[in-house]
Amino acid sequence: MLRELIRIPSVNPPSIESPDGETRVARHIAGRLEELGLDPEVIESVPGRGSVHARLRGDGTGGDPLLLLSHLDVVPAPPDRWSHDPFAADIADGYVYGRGAVDMKGMVALEMGVVARLVAEARAAGRDPASDPIPGLRRDVLFTCTADEEAGAFAGAMWIAQDRPDWLRAAGALNECGGVSTTVAGRRLYPIGVAEKGYGAYRISVRGTWGHGSMPREDNAAVLAARVIERLAVQGPLRVTPVMARFLVSAADAFPDDVGAGLRRIAAGDPESDRLIEALCDPMHARTLRALLRDTLSPDVVHAGVKYNVIPGDAVVEVDCRVLPGTTEEQMRADIEARLGPDLGPACTVELMVFASPVEAPAEGDLYDVMADTLRDHDPEGVPLPVMVPFATDAKHTAVLGVPTYGFSPLRLDPEERFLDRFHGVDERVSLDALRFGLPVLYDVVRRFCG
Ligand SMILES: [Zn+2]
Repeated sequence: MLRELIRIPSVNPPSIESPDGETRVARHIAGRLEELGLDPEVIESVPGRGSVHARLRGDGTGGDPLLLLSHLDVVPAPPDRWSHDPFAADIADGYVYGRGAVDMKGMVALEMGVVARLVAEARAAGRDPASDPIPGLRRDVLFTCTADEEAGAFAGAMWIAQDRPDWLRAAGALNECGGVSTTVAGRRLYPIGVAEKGYGAYRISVRGTWGHGSMPREDNAAVLAARVIERLAVQGPLRVTPVMARFLVSAADAFPDDVGAGLRRIAAGDPESDRLIEALCDPMHARTLRALLRDTLSPDVVHAGVKYNVIPGDAVVEVDCRVLPGTTEEQMRADIEARLGPDLGPACTVELMVFASPVEAPAEGDLYDVMADTLRDHDPEGVPLPVMVPFATDAKHTAVLGVPTYGFSPLRLDPEERFLDRFHGVDERVSLDALRFGLPVLYDVVRRFCG
């Protein structure tokens, strides 16, 4: 199933060569669901931007549905540095290679596997899976795959939340970015995503004075923009949110005393935390952890200049800010303005491009406990623990409907696998063993929560 999905490139943004990849993959999934005897729906927010949905029925005595949420689009994959064609879905050394293997067609395939098994059980009991309750299910199971997650969800989850909220309304949702094992100091952790940072993108227009490059000016807008960038690139102070404190303390319990003591110091907000993170974590985990303990700023776009001998009078800097729960848009903007200060501030106009609030789901209670217990049952040495993720997913849009949404796409990885580096990266891949582990975990979570 995963190989079929990878081979339909559903690149976002769509291109002239491939304007309708999301709809083609949505229709492919719908075809598979129809073969199972279900009654799926495909909708397009705009032509080519398809999403797909199906509902499995419970007997209605167990409360609101469980939502299996995923997205169909993938980011572009320039093939030059890949060792396999990103859309061929080759299998090599026990891995499926291809764009979307981890983000997130692998999870779509697992969800399809769960749906297929539930359908088979309905048939074995002589029921019609399209209309009858699945034996043993007390809640409905919603299967929803969206378009456009990778570019803000305007043509996907955001639109669905407004136009077809019945596709998303649920007691809880399982989504990407969590439940994936990460091996640290010999311990296998399973961070379950319970929170996401918010984001704000700002455009800073810098005004200088146009002039002749033969006579340099201090108010060259490119030079001013360089100073702006330097000030924006300094990371802000540490702030340990409740979810991250719980993450660090839970992780500390799993490690030997010296590592555990360091993690507890970070959890307590030790001013030496950045140095401790450096000492305790490999570079990939350190970069992630640093970002989860502060509001971050990353100046990612700069435009200035028209010709080598013309001093630019205008420059533009765009900065990607990621905010912790508790930081408002007004506070983020105030931080930027404070960084510009009285010297650069008057030359700058700060304009908000887009903002989305952080989201949080309970890190305890029915669904969280089912996920954690099921992981422990399938991997007794594994340590499930709640975590925040630094980026945004469709959970921003289920949050609007009040649906607690968890990062839970269970995979047990080889300890050496650089999973976080595979996201949007070169040679994106997922191992067959990881998928074989994930399928029964996901099935059991659905059964337990809905049973
Ligand atoms: Zn994704």
